[in-house]
Amino acid sequence: MKHDDVFCKIINGEIPCHKIYEDDDVLAFLDISQLSKGHALVVSKKHYDNFLSVPHEEMHKVMDVAQRIGQVSIKFLGASGVNILTNCYESAGQTVMHFHVHVIPRYSGEEKVIEFKNVNTEELNLPSIASTIKNNI
Ligand SMILES: [Zn+2]
Repeated sequence: MKHDDVFCKIINGEIPCHKIYEDDDVLAFLDISQLSKGHALVVSKKHYDNFLSVPHEEMHKVMDVAQRIGQVSIKFLGASGVNILTNCYESAGQTVMHFHVHVIPRYSGEEKVIEFKNVNTEELNLPSIASTIKNNI
């Protein structure tokens, strides 16, 4: 099945990119809209919608490359921290429906902590939520 998302087009060479790494299964390149200096994307060459549907072997290969780019960001770009994250589906902020992992270097003096807003825990039945996940994992 042919997909026409922007990452499939980059993988197919229809759209240029600032390539960082490539092997048979994985491609990494700089995000064209940099959240910070060196913001990179790591994608599986085969099309999967997101992290939740990628086979574990390819998921591991992508995460391995993300780890190495994070290490290089600290050693060679001067980053003091790195966010490594992947969004699944639109409600979580996924804008390109092709599995990708963000590697976002962070620098001292310009900390940009991703803010998560807590929900009211008192309105949640945590034992019930825990057992729903535990019984289906
Ligand atoms: Zn794709």
